[in-house]
Amino acid sequence: MIVNMSDSATEEQIEHIIQRVREAGFQPHVTRGTERTIVAAVGSGGRRHEIEALSVAPGVDNVVAIAQPFKLVSRQTRPQPSVVEVAGAKCRVKIGGPEVVVIAGPCSVESRQQLLETAEGVKRAGATMLRGGAYKPRTSPYEFQGLGIEALKILREARELTGLPVVTEVMSTEDVDLICEYADMLQVGARNMQNFALLRRLATVKKPILLKRGPSATVKEWLLAAEYLLSGGNDQVALCERGIKTFETATRNTFDLAAVALAKELSHLPVVADPSHGTGKQSLIAAVSRAAIAVGADAIIVEVHPCPERALSDGPQSLDIPQFERMMRGLSAPLRPVLAPAQAC
Ligand code: PEP
Ligand code: MN
Repeated sequence: MIVNMSDSATEEQIEHIIQRVREAGFQPHVTRGTERTIVAAVGSGGRRHEIEALSVAPGVDNVVAIAQPFKLVSRQTRPQPSVVEVAGAKCRVKIGGPEVVVIAGPCSVESRQQLLETAEGVKRAGATMLRGGAYKPRTSPYEFQGLGIEALKILREARELTGLPVVTEVMSTEDVDLICEYADMLQVGARNMQNFALLRRLATVKKPILLKRGPSATVKEWLLAAEYLLSGGNDQVALCERGIKTFETATRNTFDLAAVALAKELSHLPVVADPSHGTGKQSLIAAVSRAAIAVGADAIIVEVHPCPERALSDGPQSLDIPQFERMMRGLSAPLRPVLAPAQAC
């Protein structure tokens, strides 16, 4: 349930509502907007009728049910978009602000030289965050699994040299503390989107989370996974669309462009688009990035490798540095003009 306070509600009236929400057996979550304050009553087992009755309390405009199963993630609870701040060694990047953020780097950290060359290249081209996998979720146990802590150390060096904040994947609850020491943002990979133990643990860390959509997850399931993070106390969450499984085999996954727009409509959380995993094809990355930005993506995350043909993971979907530079130049080009009303011929 949501208690919408009126524009003129006083601090005392808001405090009273927060107290009443607690008494009714719910957790109060307060969103202070520029115009009005919203008090959301979330949790199970509370007494709904006591919240409904608050519609006549002083300072209350109305009380409405939250239409969706995800509550804190919903736009209804927070109509204005959230901004996720990623703080690096030298600067802070805002995902969800007026500018699109570009996160780039290799699928996996393979060596010091590979990562530093990529980090410097993507920075020169205009990326403002660095990605790189240290712990890799691979379909086969015989494939490269990542360099682990050695990769984290290399990421830290690149972070300090370039100033780019770093995002890397965390696959297990056991690695959370270690990765928090090295990375500025923690990625929950697609395969772990519904690893509820991991989500619960990440809800308690003081780092922003990049939550990828599971390959077979509906938008509702994806937003409910984000709800685990917010309800557990971490509201610094960016959603990431990275393609889903469909009957189509021409692309590695089917990039769900509509889901980018839909997630923005349903939720206040910023949305990141991953055209690399979304398509699996070098040649489609620039076009799909432009499309994602056109439908409202707040950031894109792109795989870049100094020599994709030698990459230990995801080479076919990695851009080399000159290709990434070209893509970056193309991202700011205007869309084609729409044909004006028909003219007599
Ligand atoms: C990755 O980012 O390299 C990755 C493994 O992503 P996903 O979880 O989307 O497959
Ligand atoms: Mn990858």
